[in-house]
Amino acid sequence: MFVDSHCHLDLQEFDKGIDLIMTQMSNAKVDYALVAGIDKKKFNNILKLISNYSNLYASVGMHPECLDKEEFSIEELCLLAKHNKKIVAIGETGLDYHSHDHQDLDWQRNRFRQHIRAAKISTLPLIIHTRSAIIDTLNILKEEGARDVGGVMHCFTENWDAAKLAMDLNFYISISGIVTFKNAKIVHEVASKVPLDRILIETDSPYLSPEPYRGKVNNPANVVYVANKIAELRKTTVEDVANASRKNFFSLFSKIGL
Ligand SMILES: [Zn+2]
Repeated sequence: MFVDSHCHLDLQEFDKGIDLIMTQMSNAKVDYALVAGIDKKKFNNILKLISNYSNLYASVGMHPECLDKEEFSIEELCLLAKHNKKIVAIGETGLDYHSHDHQDLDWQRNRFRQHIRAAKISTLPLIIHTRSAIIDTLNILKEEGARDVGGVMHCFTENWDAAKLAMDLNFYISISGIVTFKNAKIVHEVASKVPLDRILIETDSPYLSPEPYRGKVNNPANVVYVANKIAELRKTTVEDVANASRKNFFSLFSKIGL
């Protein structure tokens, strides 16, 4: 019934308990999860994970905050995506100025552009991380013609105007557990207004546990709490939110059906 469009099941928080997590997912009727790539060094862990579990898929990319010097080249990204049918997107990529002086972040912007180019060559959607950098993020997406492949703005925390601009660029809006936090008024507004055919849901596990588990290690089974809260905000049923976000998941990550 549910899908988690963004998690990090390869991280060490899950080293011991991955089978248990998979059981919890299936008990909660969370049928699929996408494991987002964040670095090059440990990408093999993700490859292993997706080959062990039929309902896990992945994206390949380097997180904007990953400080490793060795980058994926455009060719490497394209090759990995081409030769593994369970790699269904490029990312997560984007910009994160939160704890940096953005003057010195040409390396982040260059990395971001490389990922967009790889996505266009591979004809795969992009998974975008943006934090304290929405203007530059949207500008670079526009300049590089990311609209051709589209993608998802993961863990969206920007305002409704930014959501509209992202949707104009052919991007889906993904809502995380932040929507369950009482003070997240901007996310509440976006989650109520995004058209159902543009919405995705995610956990970003192990981070960002929704209420009532805030502060604990998150896992994909908790995407149900995200869907419930969105349904409450929109005055609709959780089935509605589950079905719409599931349908969007398969149309965006269309390689999954092939
Ligand atoms: Zn992530």
